[in-house]
Amino acid sequence: MIKIRNLSKRFGDLEVLRDVSVDIKKGEVIAIIGPSGTGKSTFLRCLNLLENPTSGAIYIDDIPILDKNTDVPKIRQKMGMVFQSFNLYAHLTVLENLTIGPIKLLGMKKSEANQKAAELLKLVGLAEKAYTFPDELSGGQKQRVAIARCMAMEPEILLFDEPTSALDPTMISEVLAVIRRLAREGMTMIIVTHEMEFARNTASRIFYMDEGIIYEEGTPQQIFDNPQKEKTRAFIHRIRSLNYHIASPDYDLYALQAELEAFCEKHMLSKKASDNIALISEEVLGIQSNYSNLDLSLSYSEKDGGVEMVCESEGNPVNPLEEGALEDDLGLMLIKSRSDNIEYKYENGRNILTLGVKV
Ligand code: ADP
Ligand code: MG
Repeated sequence: MIKIRNLSKRFGDLEVLRDVSVDIKKGEVIAIIGPSGTGKSTFLRCLNLLENPTSGAIYIDDIPILDKNTDVPKIRQKMGMVFQSFNLYAHLTVLENLTIGPIKLLGMKKSEANQKAAELLKLVGLAEKAYTFPDELSGGQKQRVAIARCMAMEPEILLFDEPTSALDPTMISEVLAVIRRLAREGMTMIIVTHEMEFARNTASRIFYMDEGIIYEEGTPQQIFDNPQKEKTRAFIHRIRSLNYHIASPDYDLYALQAELEAFCEKHMLSKKASDNIALISEEVLGIQSNYSNLDLSLSYSEKDGGVEMVCESEGNPVNPLEEGALEDDLGLMLIKSRSDNIEYKYENGRNILTLGVKV
């Protein structure tokens, strides 16, 4: 359905896309992930002709859309795009937001447009909001209206550029649920997202973008569980982990606790797991004799759902696992009861304690 050949885009001296070639079939759901500034938005904008590629070719249903003779409005109509900011018309009701395009651009009759809009609002769970104005809606509801408005133009492909990035965490899932439903109904979609769980369970293929190319692509299992290339691996590891640096005993305990909580929420860990993480980190920090240059890190494995905690600190070797090494053995007992596979090693002047949190 979409064929991209040697697509390049430069902004002055900045080469954002380099020779990207890829095919996307009808019904595929592609999630594009990767660090920011790697050209994900530019890629979508080139597809949608919002940006003019420097070189290369794009075919939609075998039509070369970068050709001079291409009917640009018609191509855009085939491709709906949903942005981070919803861009609804503030002076129109929700229903009118959905009908204005079909009436003005597709020449649809008002009654037909109204009926179609009502169906779409039902699909995104907002039938009862037809006569309200965008201002009266929450961010999540606005984004669902924006998706319905796109669908009203009967696109063949939907492009999403970080559709949930501007939303409060509580509203993210309602928008993702709508996108997931469209995926189930066979809509062809390309979604730039930072929501990894969503990418994993909704996309048929993942594109990891870096260095101006699709650096690695594969099924969600391949990319998340078994990435082949260095940068993909580093990225996947980074999004699953939390690193907290402590420079002195006067560190901000509440900030640390808040980060730990956010980590648990992000990975939807159980109450038991988050209680254990809070307790173990407190005890692990409690048994430290030297807080200068201490790093606490947590990493979550999507494969087995386990959480590993590593505490590294500078200073003379002190093995907390040795009998009598600590003045207070109670802390160690607590740590041992709430974790498995505790290991200690001393490397390059650093004490490294690694443990698996019971989850
Ligand atoms: P991503 O969506 O992956 O974060 P973008 O595609 O937005 O990345 O941007 C890629 C690079 O291109 C960035 O360095 C950005 O600053 C640059 N860029 C994007 N749009 C423009 C523009 N219109 N003019 C100049 N530079 C741009
Ligand atoms: Mg972007």
